[in-house]
Amino acid sequence: MIDVAIIGGGPAGSTCGSLLKKYMPELSVLILERERFPREHVGESLLPGVMYVLDEMGCWDKVEAAGFPIKIGATYRWGNTFDLWDFEFYPGVSFKDEDRPGKFEGQREKTAFQVDRQYYDKVLLDHAASLGCEVREETRVLKVNKDGDRVTGLTLENGEEIQARYYVDATGVSGLIRRAMGVEADYPTALRNIAFWDYWQNAEWAVNIGVDGTRILVLSLQYGWMWFIPISATRTSIGLVLPMSYYKESDMSVDELYRKALSDEPLIKDLITNATCENTLRTTNDWSYISDRLAGENWFLAGDSCGFADPILSAGLSLAQAGARQVAYSILELIRGQADSEWIKESYNTSQRARIRQHVRFADLWYGANGCFSDLREYTREIAEAAGFTLDADDAFRWLAFGGFAYDDPASPIVGGFALAGIKILSKRMSLTDVGWNVSRYNLFRLNLDGAEKSTLPVLFEGRIYSKPCYRRGSKLLPEYGFYGILLELLRKEDLIQAMVERLKVQFRDDKRLGGTEWMRYAISALEAMIGEGWVVCDVDPNYPLMDFELPDETSTVHANRDIIRATLVDKTEDIQLVVEGV
Ligand SMILES: Cc1cc2nc3c(=O)[nH]c(=O)nc-3n(C[C@H](O)[C@H](O)[C@H](O)COP(=O)(O)OP(=O)(O)OC[C@H]3O[C@@H](n4cnc5c(N)ncnc54)[C@H](O)[C@@H]3O)c2cc1C
Repeated sequence: MIDVAIIGGGPAGSTCGSLLKKYMPELSVLILERERFPREHVGESLLPGVMYVLDEMGCWDKVEAAGFPIKIGATYRWGNTFDLWDFEFYPGVSFKDEDRPGKFEGQREKTAFQVDRQYYDKVLLDHAASLGCEVREETRVLKVNKDGDRVTGLTLENGEEIQARYYVDATGVSGLIRRAMGVEADYPTALRNIAFWDYWQNAEWAVNIGVDGTRILVLSLQYGWMWFIPISATRTSIGLVLPMSYYKESDMSVDELYRKALSDEPLIKDLITNATCENTLRTTNDWSYISDRLAGENWFLAGDSCGFADPILSAGLSLAQAGARQVAYSILELIRGQADSEWIKESYNTSQRARIRQHVRFADLWYGANGCFSDLREYTREIAEAAGFTLDADDAFRWLAFGGFAYDDPASPIVGGFALAGIKILSKRMSLTDVGWNVSRYNLFRLNLDGAEKSTLPVLFEGRIYSKPCYRRGSKLLPEYGFYGILLELLRKEDLIQAMVERLKVQFRDDKRLGGTEWMRYAISALEAMIGEGWVVCDVDPNYPLMDFELPDETSTVHANRDIIRATLVDKTEDIQLVVEGV
């Protein structure tokens, strides 16, 4: 009898195993993986949130040592024009080229990586083994044995039986325990895409995109979109995503469509002029789904077996590794036996499902609001309708920009790596709507907790799950900690914005954790999100001025592309604009 058996040695499995061993080294943890690593896998572009999980696992240095390109953001052709624009986690103009391997500090805390998954996944799995997990590769689990909602053992391909106190399904979309326990999946979107991708050697930008950090490319065609992700100094992943219906109606083979897209996309065409294709075109459906239940009597689902959101936002590994971290924390609490086990499981179930659902809806908005899909008008309309946005793209983004996604990170309003301020700028790019800030339109703000109940939320810290208070009204949550907690306290004392800002200045005067006036942006964004979610009502007192929190059209992190369109590429981009105007 071992303590925890994890099926699947991908990032979810190795994250869960590493954190179990980090915080409770005496546990016996077994990871069963059917392949021998390194093995290829799609999903190469990471978000900065993953870096904190890697750091907590004690693995960031090992991933850095593997030399993957540093990701500072993405360049998009997406929205209401064909112009290129950048979203950067860390402003490219300020990024300094430093010796590598570096440390997880300074600018590197705001960046991510693009990874060759065969090596990334191996670094993580080897790390789990180095912490004491028993890793068995080329070991396929054939069958999950059960008694009611309890897993009683696993049968391996060689007939061996494995028994454990807890079981984790980290088998990706295979969802071995999910299927065995009869957990249904919900497909809460009309997005039905298919992806094709291949790898290229020596594409031009594989060494250096933009400045010293690297941006991936996400480029709309009229009938789908392409990704261009350098995953090593010489190897680049280039993929195409299309609606399944478009693929079926096109009467073209996967290969023909891929080649057509490569020649239709002038930027990519240029970058691969002297590159060599590995000619291993792969394909998969990438249909978003969410499992109905993520935990049972003695089992948990982790990573893609919980659900999957369309790759447009590069959120897969963020969801998979953040969720796997919570699974590890949950099992640790169940083993300690001090917390209410039902609350632990239900907290995971609710929060991870909410995270995935938010990303699915965010992806719906991205597709629904992309004016570049001129051949896919009907498809984007269907997506928006199925997502419940009878709203047009303008209204959908207005909803988003006012905090519709406030709880992706319970401490401050952020989704898919975008802080609320970034989403407001994004909304201008996607729908030409300047949504502005409610905090600038009003000067009186009053708490509205009518009909709200006191509840609790899990907060994960150094291997423990703490129960933190929150308010709950319907499906909406207002955490009483992080910036929301600060605002709650403030709103109980003041209602005039000037007075609130003065109090905040005093509170943050000696706080060195957030540089400069960054705290003000977080606080104002939290207030804005609370207004959007109905926790705060606004008014104007004509005796006092309004305060202007308007952001400029551009920020250092969301702005028109400056450095890609240079030299030879500038003509191509002008060509594209002319074509669009012609259409
Ligand atoms: C087209 C596409 C593009 C994507 N792009 C991105 C991106 O840019 N960024 C991003 O973050 N994510 C992306 N993703 C998502 C990302 O690939 C996944 O979210 C991620 O791989 C999930 O990790 P996991 O550990 O849950 O599952 P996996 O990485 O799939 O690992 C599951 C492991 O379980 C093993 N296994 C399965 N069955 C068994 C069994 N019976 N016995 C033993 N072992 C078993 C498998 O061999 C595998 O190693 C993309 C996905 C798709 C489809």
